[in-house]
Amino acid sequence: MESYQSDRDDVIQKCIDEGMEYVLTVGTEEPYFKTVIALVDRYPFIYGAVGIHPHNAADFTDMTEKAIRKAATHPRIVGYGEVGLDFFKNYSPRDIQKKIFVRQLALAGDLDLPVIIHSRDAQKETEDILKQECKTGRGVIHCFSYDRSAAEIFLDMGFYISIPGTVTYKTAGGLREALRYIPSERLLAETDAPFLTPVPHRGRRNVPWYVKITIAAMAAERKTTTEKLAAVLRDNFVRLFLKK
Ligand SMILES: [Zn+2]
Repeated sequence: MESYQSDRDDVIQKCIDEGMEYVLTVGTEEPYFKTVIALVDRYPFIYGAVGIHPHNAADFTDMTEKAIRKAATHPRIVGYGEVGLDFFKNYSPRDIQKKIFVRQLALAGDLDLPVIIHSRDAQKETEDILKQECKTGRGVIHCFSYDRSAAEIFLDMGFYISIPGTVTYKTAGGLREALRYIPSERLLAETDAPFLTPVPHRGRRNVPWYVKITIAAMAAERKTTTEKLAAVLRDNFVRLFLKK
């Protein structure tokens, strides 16, 4: 994204210095696809995903599908997303978001890629569409922002649940309750960088290695160590995205 335009290579070098084994970078709009491909070609520890974010659903055309199909032929494009519903910002009309969500779930199935689901203020509608259109449950509910009862439903469908830096926010009691409930083998962590920066850096640009802060907060909540949890999360990432 643009916020790394001036220092992207330094940020990536710092990921290596911080000991990150895998980074998944997500191209959420067609113009980003070529940047994602360039990054995965250049750095062996970076993997990519492509798909059209619900914010941009209204721009999805047959040409977009063509671009996604082409990008997905790259062996290091390992996920489809972000796709889903965002009824908080409503940058695209809700009915178009739903229609394009359904279309992209079918496309992800066709391409045999796990899906990365973005769902904000649209819990029920997301559940309904996934139940109907993603019967494999192969994917992750990214930046999970709902409560324990929603987690139960998505877990029952087969999805992984990914926890962002918001878990460090005082107001995230519902998220922390869900986190205590999610089984280890279905848990992931992420930064959503440059967004959702964890405390104590909140308010500034987020960067990939801050995921350590999130994992430490998750480990404390789950009464385990950061090292143990990090190892589990790494195995989960590999199982979901890198094993065919
Ligand atoms: Zn998202």
